[in-house]
Amino acid sequence: MQIKANPLRHGVALSDKKAATKDLPVQAIPAPDTVAICMSQHIGKPAQPVVQAGDAVLKGQLIARADGPVSANIYSSVSGTVKSVETRKDDRGASAQYVVVQNDKQDNAAFLPPLAEKTKENILERIREAGIVGLGGAAFPTYVKMTPRTPVDALVINGAECEPYLTCDYRLMVEKYAELLQGIRYLALALGVDKIYIGIEENKPDCIERFAGEEDIVTVPLHERYPMGSEKHLIYSCTGRKVPCGKLPADAGCVVQNVATAYAVYEAVELGKPLFERVLTVSGGAVQRPQNLLVPNGTAFSYILDYCGVDDSCAMIVDGGPMMGVAVADRKVVTKKATSGLLALTKAETDGSTPTPCVSCGRCARACPMHLMPMDIDFYTQNEDYEGARDWGGVLNCIECGSCAYVCPAKRPIVQSVRLAKAKLRELAATNGK
Ligand code: SF4
Ligand code: SF4
Repeated sequence: MQIKANPLRHGVALSDKKAATKDLPVQAIPAPDTVAICMSQHIGKPAQPVVQAGDAVLKGQLIARADGPVSANIYSSVSGTVKSVETRKDDRGASAQYVVVQNDKQDNAAFLPPLAEKTKENILERIREAGIVGLGGAAFPTYVKMTPRTPVDALVINGAECEPYLTCDYRLMVEKYAELLQGIRYLALALGVDKIYIGIEENKPDCIERFAGEEDIVTVPLHERYPMGSEKHLIYSCTGRKVPCGKLPADAGCVVQNVATAYAVYEAVELGKPLFERVLTVSGGAVQRPQNLLVPNGTAFSYILDYCGVDDSCAMIVDGGPMMGVAVADRKVVTKKATSGLLALTKAETDGSTPTPCVSCGRCARACPMHLMPMDIDFYTQNEDYEGARDWGGVLNCIECGSCAYVCPAKRPIVQSVRLAKAKLRELAATNGK
C-alpha cells in the first residue's frame, strides 16, 4: 500500500551524490589482521569486557557485556586471540576501552542458536542479547527503544537515507529485501503493533514500488529534501503525528527503526547472528574504488581506505555522511556498529572557507527543520552564554542536521557551536543539578 507523505517545509535540497555506489552490490572486505573493538559504541554506559589478553575468541563470541539497562552487548568480529584490553582515544577525542583481537584468519564462528519460538518476548530478548543498536547513526540500544514507557501503536521504518553519498541502506533494500521484510515484521511483532510505515526518498523508486506491493506495510515516498530521515520529520511525513519539543517518538505513539537495524534483527532471530559487522559506504571524490562494503566491527579506517584506494586529492576524511558525520584526523580510528559511511572528500567537495561575521540574512532560520534560531545559538555560544543558546536559540531541540551551516553565506560553524553548547549545558546540569 502506498500513501502520499504529509508535506514538510524547511530543510535543504542537496545533490544526492549517490551515483558512484548505488548500483554496486555489497562486497565483504577481507578481515584485517587485528580489530580494535570499542566498548563505548552505543548511547549509554560502556559495555564491560568479559575477556582478557591471551583469551581465544570465536567470531560472534560475546566479549563485553552490557552494563546496566541502557547499554549493549559486544561480540568479536573475527576469530583469534585477545591481544589487549586497552584505553584509547576515539575520533571525538573521548577515551574509551577497546578489546584488540589478533585475527587467526580461521573464521571460526559461534553464533547464538536461531530463535525457535518467535514470540514478542523471545524476539525482544534476542534483540537485547545480540547487542543490536540503532544503525542509522544514533546507536541507541534497540531493546530499550522497543520497550517504551508509553503505549505505541505504530512502527515507522526509516528507509530515507537522505545523507548524500551513502547507499548502504539502499543496497540492503535491493539485495536483502525478503530478509529485511522479515526483520520489519519481527520488529512489529515485538512491539505488538500492526501499523507499519516505511518512508523512502523518491530517489529510490525501485524500493518504493517493491514495498508498496506489501499489504501490511504503508509505503510513503518522501520528497528529496534533507533531513527527511530525521525521526520527528519521518513520523510526521508518514503518520501526520507531531512529536512535541522535548518529547520522544513514543509520546506520539511511534517507534522508529532504520532498515539496517531491521536487517540486523532478522539475522539475530533467524540465524542467531549477533551484531558484529555491518554494511557501510566508502565514497567521495578522492576514493579510487568507491564501494558498499560489509566490514567487521573494529576495522581501522586506514585499512578500509587502503583497500578502496585514496588519492592525493583527499582533503578530508569523514566518519558518516557529509551533513551529520564527523571529520576524522586520525585514520587509526576504527568502525563501530553505527558507522554507516566513510568518505574521502576532495577540497572541492568540502568547504574550507574561513567563517566571517554573521550578516543577519536569516537563511539559517528558514532552513532549520526544527524552526530554531541557529544564528542565536551560534551567537550565544561564541559568547560563552550557553544558557542563552538554550533559552533564546533552542539548542536542546537541535537535531544537528547541519542544514543551517550548509546555507550560511558567512560559513558560520553553527553545528560546532551546537555541540559545544550542548556539552557545556550537560556539564552545567551535572554541577548545578539544573
Ligand atoms: S539549528 Fe540544528 S536543527 Fe536547525 S538547521 Fe541547524 S543543525 Fe539543523
Ligand atoms: S545564515 Fe549565517 S549569516 Fe545568515 S543569519 Fe544565519 S548565521 Fe547569520
